Amino acid sequence: MTQTEILWKYQEAEMELDRLRKELEATPERQKMKKLRKILMEQSEKIDSFRSGVKEKEAELDADMAKLEALLKEYDLEQDDLNIMMNDEECTAEELTESRKSMEALLERVNSLKKSITECREWIVSATEAAKEAYTRGSRTKRDFEAAKAVVETEKLERKPVMDKAEKDVERIAAQLSPDLLKRYKTIKKKYPNPVAKVTDNRCSGCGMSLPMATIKKFSAGNSIIECENCARILCRDE
Ligand SMILES: [Zn+2]
Repeated sequence: MTQTEILWKYQEAEMELDRLRKELEATPERQKMKKLRKILMEQSEKIDSFRSGVKEKEAELDADMAKLEALLKEYDLEQDDLNIMMNDEECTAEELTESRKSMEALLERVNSLKKSITECREWIVSATEAAKEAYTRGSRTKRDFEAAKAVVETEKLERKPVMDKAEKDVERIAAQLSPDLLKRYKTIKKKYPNPVAKVTDNRCSGCGMSLPMATIKKFSAGNSIIECENCARILCRDE
C-alpha cells in the first residue's frame, strides 16, 4: 500500500471514530443530562441571587432599626421638653406650638420608617420563601441529573469496546504513516474534515475541480504525494 492509500484508510478510521463519538454525544439520555445541567445551573444562580438579596435587605433592615431607635429617643426627649414647657408659666403659646410641630414632624418620620421596615421584612420573608422553593426544585433537578448521568455512564461503558477499537485503529494506521505526511494531513484537516480526496475522472473529489494534465501525469506516476492545486487536499487513487 502506498502512503496515500494508507492515509485514506487513516481518514476513514478517523471519520469512524468521529462518528462514534458524535453518536455517543447525541444519545437522548446525554441530551437530557445536558439540559438538566443547564437548568441546575440556572436554579443555583437564582438561589444565590435570592440569598445575596436577602443579605442586602437584612443590612438595610438593621440600619433602619437603628435609625428608628434614635428617632424614638429623640421623640421622648421632645416629649419631656414639652411637659416641662407646659408647666412653665413663662413659656409662650408660640413656643408650645413650635414644640408640638417638631414632634409631629418626628412622628411622621417614625411612621414612614416603620412602613419601610415592614416592607423590608415582608420582602425578606417572600424572598426566603422563593429561595426555599428554588432549593426544593433544585434538589429534584439534581436527582434527575444524577439519574441521567448514571445512564450516560452505563452507555459509555457499553460502547467502550467499540470506541477503544476505533481509537486503536486510528493509532495503528497512524503508526504506518510518515510523521511529515500526518502533519500535513492534520494541517489540512483544520480547513476540511476530509483532507484526502480520491481522483475520479481526473477530478479532485474534494472540490470537484478538473486536474491539469501535468498533475494527472505526476499523480499517475504514483511515487509522490500530490495535492489538489485548487483546495490543497492530498490526492488519492480511486481503486
Ligand atoms: Zn480539490
